[in-house]
Amino acid sequence: MRGTVLRGPREVELCDLPVPRVHGPRDAVIRVTASAICGTDLHPYRGELPGFGVGTVLGHEFAGVVEDAGDEVAHLTGRRVVASDLVACGRCRMCQRGWHYQCPEVTLFGYSTVVGRSIDGGQAEYVTVPFADVVLAECPDELTDEQALFTGDVLATGYTAAERAEIPLGGTVAVIGAGTVGLLAGMCARARGAATVVIADPSAARRTAAEAQGFIAVRPEQLASHGSAQSVIEAVGSDDALRLAVETAAPRGTIVAIGAHHSDAAPLNSGHAFARELTLRFAVGDPIAVWPEVFALVRTGRVDPAAVISHRLPLAEVGRGYELFDRREATKVVLLCSDVAG
Ligand SMILES: [Zn+2]
Ligand SMILES: [Zn+2]
Repeated sequence: MRGTVLRGPREVELCDLPVPRVHGPRDAVIRVTASAICGTDLHPYRGELPGFGVGTVLGHEFAGVVEDAGDEVAHLTGRRVVASDLVACGRCRMCQRGWHYQCPEVTLFGYSTVVGRSIDGGQAEYVTVPFADVVLAECPDELTDEQALFTGDVLATGYTAAERAEIPLGGTVAVIGAGTVGLLAGMCARARGAATVVIADPSAARRTAAEAQGFIAVRPEQLASHGSAQSVIEAVGSDDALRLAVETAAPRGTIVAIGAHHSDAAPLNSGHAFARELTLRFAVGDPIAVWPEVFALVRTGRVDPAAVISHRLPLAEVGRGYELFDRREATKVVLLCSDVAG
């Protein structure tokens, strides 16, 4: 089978690999129909994660059909499924609380040892899924594989941001970053009662994409002139974005930082945050916890995740997909991995 292997900075190769197998009673092997390239994949692609294992099979957003399954998950065989990007056991105390990212077994598909142990990713024709009873969701019949695909990562992340942002009914939400997560967070914010969504991004192309979804799109330095927002979603993951979020939040406002942060300094105006009595939350999207709600949003048409797709490419063109995404010429790339209808 063919899988996308990272060879070095800006070098991915579609390689012939052994077909993955079931090893444990909760493993499932998926024949992947659709897989996506995520902004998170750009960090190893650009060589920004020094310890990232060369030879890793990339990809943590995928949907497909269960081809083979261990004894405890045998009922999934033949089912159309979507995978959560994050892997968790489902049985420990953290998982029992619904805090899957805090699970001792937590890891990400195709992400080397950045989060947990290394497991192969899904930008491939087949992939093994551990804890399949927890990590996989069955695709609702009404949803195509493409519609279900993002519920395993970017849409779940956008939803988690909107859910935790304390959005007042009819209120204004500011979103910093008009990448896929920012756009989907804006859609979810609207579905959860926001009347106005203002999205800030320095890229003109991204602002155009945001306007196409009915959002007000501004440059970051213009955000303040739109007034303060009771809820701010920070979907970039940089010190500058966090600082802007704090400056944008209204008194007693809530900020949800959903972009991945790595800074060990405090990059925000804490005096301002204190004077305005702000709430600042960090959140990691958790598909396993929010699947029912997110499936419902898609099924009822309140959120159309396919609207953010700019490119659909055969798996054979994965290298071009990475190049387009790296150069910001693509908003979201979906790889068509096998011919199964969905
Ligand atoms: Zn991702
Ligand atoms: Zn667990």
